[in-house]
Amino acid sequence: MATLADAGLQFTSLPHPAPMSAERRAQVLANPGFGTNFSDHMVSIDWTEGQGWHDATVGPRQPIALDPAAAVLHYAQEIFEGLKAYRQADGGIALFRPMANAARFNQSAARLAMPALPEEVFVESVRQLVAADRDWFPTVEGGSLYLRPFMIATEAFLGVRPARQYKFLVIASPAGNYFKSGAPAVSIWVSEYTRAAPGGTGAAKCGGNYAASLVPQGEAIARGHDQVVFLDAAEHKWIEELGGMNLYFVFDDGTLLTPELTGTILPGITRDSLLTLARDEGLTVREGRYSLDQWREDAASGKLVETFACGTAAVVTPVGKVASRDGEFTVGSGGPGQLTQRLKDRLVSIQRGQAADPHGWVTKLG
Ligand SMILES: *Cc1c(COP(=O)(O)O)cnc(C)c1O
Repeated sequence: MATLADAGLQFTSLPHPAPMSAERRAQVLANPGFGTNFSDHMVSIDWTEGQGWHDATVGPRQPIALDPAAAVLHYAQEIFEGLKAYRQADGGIALFRPMANAARFNQSAARLAMPALPEEVFVESVRQLVAADRDWFPTVEGGSLYLRPFMIATEAFLGVRPARQYKFLVIASPAGNYFKSGAPAVSIWVSEYTRAAPGGTGAAKCGGNYAASLVPQGEAIARGHDQVVFLDAAEHKWIEELGGMNLYFVFDDGTLLTPELTGTILPGITRDSLLTLARDEGLTVREGRYSLDQWREDAASGKLVETFACGTAAVVTPVGKVASRDGEFTVGSGGPGQLTQRLKDRLVSIQRGQAADPHGWVTKLG
């Protein structure tokens, strides 16, 4: 593997002169929530056309100065990743499949006309931040340190073309257990809005996709549901994914189905990991198309027994109820299903170093 030096980068370390007091931090870590509290440090690396990546620092978390004409503020040239550092059973700290996040980050960068970041620099940035903020692990059961690498176009220019300056940043947020074990099943609303169209940015992890999902998500909430599910743009028939989670369907013959990656679905690392874990168990998993009509029919006949959503933040979330303008239906018992819970437990125990890691997914940070 290429090294940091190959990428011509050396991190400058600037410890925070006035980190949060141990007392306040302990309060935060006892009840971290999700996405509202942040650690003391951040990583920042700049990119300039002709020069490449430079000025890598891990320093105090602070506001960033942007020219009001910075391209990200006008044309949304922005991509991000989301991964977690987990406290291991042996007391150490580990990342889960960080190279997969690094690779996906570059796929997103390519789609948004942004520069690639060497994968080893991505992973080293995350390592540096976790090392600087190693006192920021939640003390609650199931807690983790959520890491948010992202890249923005910083060049001050209002013409429409790819920017010539970018900033890569990593921030960290202590995260509680999204849902305690035995997660409650969520109710989802089938949106008439479209998340992603063929040829669009659906497979890229970019902020713009999320901006466009807020109205549909708000509509789901207003109608009394927890999450929104999107259908395909062309036929408005095939199930794609939620606003930020992939979907799995479990059938009465023990097989699973997940929508295939057609370019309009975000290729989730949790989705991919569960595909492997299910196959390890000898289960048959298909990647294919599944229509809303078939879903409703199979739920009614009992052929479909479970549905779950998956993603890094909430891991695995059972879907209990589905509603659309044509009415509602219940999935299985309406509560968490057995296979959903088993796959979740399998994945979580690997992430936390409580089970063997046959696929080399766990990267120990020592
Ligand atoms: C990040 C994301 C997912 C889940 O991906 P993971 O790698 O499993 O966290 C699913 N859908 C969308 C739209 C996402 O942005």
